[in-house]
Amino acid sequence: MSPAFVPVNTPLLDGNEAEYLAECIRTGWISSEGPFIKRFEDAMARAAGRRHGVAVTNGSVALDIAIHALGLEAGSEVIIPTFTIISCAAAVVRAGLVPVGVDCDPTTWNMTIEGVEAALTPRTRAIMLVHIYGLPVDLDPILELAGKHGLKVIEDAAEMHGQTYRGAPCGSFGDVSTFSFYPNKHVTTGEGGMILTDDDAFADRLGSLRNLCFQPQQRFVHEELGWNARMTNLQAALGVAQVERLPQTVELKRRIGRLYDSHLGNVDRVSRPVARTNYADNIYWVYGVVLNEDVPFDAKEAMRRLADRGIGTRPFFWCMHEQPVLRRMGFMLDEQHPNAERIARRGFYLPSGLALTEDDITRSAQALKEILA
Ligand SMILES: *Cc1c(COP(=O)(O)O)cnc(C)c1O
Repeated sequence: MSPAFVPVNTPLLDGNEAEYLAECIRTGWISSEGPFIKRFEDAMARAAGRRHGVAVTNGSVALDIAIHALGLEAGSEVIIPTFTIISCAAAVVRAGLVPVGVDCDPTTWNMTIEGVEAALTPRTRAIMLVHIYGLPVDLDPILELAGKHGLKVIEDAAEMHGQTYRGAPCGSFGDVSTFSFYPNKHVTTGEGGMILTDDDAFADRLGSLRNLCFQPQQRFVHEELGWNARMTNLQAALGVAQVERLPQTVELKRRIGRLYDSHLGNVDRVSRPVARTNYADNIYWVYGVVLNEDVPFDAKEAMRRLADRGIGTRPFFWCMHEQPVLRRMGFMLDEQHPNAERIARRGFYLPSGLALTEDDITRSAQALKEILA
């Protein structure tokens, strides 16, 4: 009998999750009102070094609301990394703004100050910082440039729970930051997201936009269109339990990264994640690999061969400037970003979930070595 399939992600729910969920059922608090919401918002805000957290239904709508709330003039340009998830570009476009892409560094896979400088125009009004796969963006030079030009900064920290940049928590930078709690994120609520800010008035505005812009004085009279993006108490209960053990989670992620490194250290046909830079140690949200040029097949084929050996994988992001939907809308048409284009085609990630066993990791690394031999 062949051993079981190693899934690309397996969440770990062995803390107080069951107890807190049972409390929701017992007390009847299952809706978006209930004590775990505020507890989760406060816990995340504390963990990310922010004053306010606003819990929402997912990380994508967190970006939608965060960007909308900045109130930028229609047609303004927002600089984003091209190597990211569609949610980033979609939020910009839906707010009536224009996404302008930036290439990534070939080794950290993150956007760079050089890229941001090249993308800057007189119409630029904001920069969206998106940390990719486990290492933060090198923030200082970009934040300095944003300050110099009076640009708004949105930090998408969806993959960075518990990570730091030069010792300060990811999620604490810029005017507003966002998180996702999708099951492959290392704090998960099944589905969920959060928007964080230090500004009291801005936090109120985010809270109103999350809740259809009902007004306290006259509930069903609206001055603005909002979203129903309310998180439930059930989700927040999971979130509270997950945040309680965030330091252990980060340590577990790093352990997975080190294990893969030890297995793959002498494999020279793939590039592995950068373990550390002078501003952060990798937390390996996922363990990505990029096939070197001498490998005669691409990521798609590698993933097929790994699936045949019982190993689950996911492709890397596909560049925003190569998205049919955005190109059809006339966005990012003249852009070329060779680093991102290359890793999108040659990169994928190995099983990286928190519930992986050491044996799962060994088998996954072994299978990768086999297909590269
Ligand atoms: C996961 C993720 C999102 C989207 O979050 P969802 O909760 O899945 O909507 C946004 N940005 C980044 C960088 C992500 O990794």
